[in-house]
Amino acid sequence: MSENKKLPILDLSRSFKEIHSEVSEAVERVLSSQAFILGPEVRNFEKHVESYLELQENGAIGCASGSDALLLALMALDLKPGDEVITTPFTFFATASAVTRLGARPVFVDVDLETYNIDLDQALSKINSKTKVFLPVHLFGQTVPIEKIYDELKSRNIKIVEDAAQSFGAWRKVNDKILRDGVMGDIGCYSFFPTKNLGGCGDGGMVVTRDENLAARLRRLRVHGEGSTYYHEEVGLNSRLDAIQAAILDIKLKYLEKWNKQRRELAANYKNLFDNYDLNDFIKAPVELENNYHIYHQYVVRVSERRDGLMKFLEENNFTTRVYYPLCLHLQHCFEFLGGKPGDCPNAEKLTQEVLALPIFPGLMSDEQERLVGKIKEFFK
Ligand SMILES: *Cc1c(COP(=O)(O)O)cnc(C)c1O
Repeated sequence: MSENKKLPILDLSRSFKEIHSEVSEAVERVLSSQAFILGPEVRNFEKHVESYLELQENGAIGCASGSDALLLALMALDLKPGDEVITTPFTFFATASAVTRLGARPVFVDVDLETYNIDLDQALSKINSKTKVFLPVHLFGQTVPIEKIYDELKSRNIKIVEDAAQSFGAWRKVNDKILRDGVMGDIGCYSFFPTKNLGGCGDGGMVVTRDENLAARLRRLRVHGEGSTYYHEEVGLNSRLDAIQAAILDIKLKYLEKWNKQRRELAANYKNLFDNYDLNDFIKAPVELENNYHIYHQYVVRVSERRDGLMKFLEENNFTTRVYYPLCLHLQHCFEFLGGKPGDCPNAEKLTQEVLALPIFPGLMSDEQERLVGKIKEFFK
């Protein structure tokens, strides 16, 4: 890439080149079939996800988006007004809006400054008789070590819904066993939004579960709660995965491991470059927990001073960076009724001031990373 062309935060076209003809063929196949909603294309993709995640038959259920996946999961667990859901304030909006849409209450727990993920001790301390669900987010592609509080949650009959929208393919090794994101708890939720590690060419999502009753319920909820055609057992959603998306995602699933591995290599390269350029006083690289296979959906560093100045300087020098997320959920206008105030989650609030996402995507070149880090050096010199 030339020096004066802007490097975007994400360039999907680079990895798409690799699969363009395969995708075109798949789309053509769906067009020829003129069958666009659910059907064999979706079931085929669901089956491949079931085998990838080592789930039982019918344990993966495609739906319309990651936001709907969260909503369907909470509906399937009968979340009701008055119920509480323990979750993180440092995440994408949809994690919490799924809770409030059902009239239930998100209880925001502060995060760990190193992993940006929910603090598990504090999560336990927020449990009371109204707590129905624990909803951790594997943020930026790093797995939350749920097993540390799993028994405690189960003994109190609290369900676990994982927001794995950013972490398809991430895992954590516990006692020599690989635990994949999305299948550690009761229900896992994925998003296939185009920018995600496994992203379609439009909206899409999925819920997964090892519980056969929940799986059947989720399957019914995604089609208006229909039992047999036009006979409705309960009120559900219209939330189905399109055949075209499923056909495309099925191709991308084959490349996922390779692309995730590339992301990890790019992350390691950033870390080396910070060492080489002596930047560790200014830039904190993301911390990967021991035994975690972080898939770097985002590469988010902490810049304790002059973050916004650095961002502006990089923009002027043709490098795009982003802030995920600039405002905690407990401080969002639409959640004022929950009574959150500044200081409730000090770590999460600090992160909103310090985090900066650098470009990371399959096809990013090491010389582009090097020029970017060189510019960071120039800024702090
Ligand atoms: C993307 C995302 C969602 C929502 O997924 P959509 O497919 O965009 O609806 C939910 N939670 C997190 C953490 C996300 O990153």
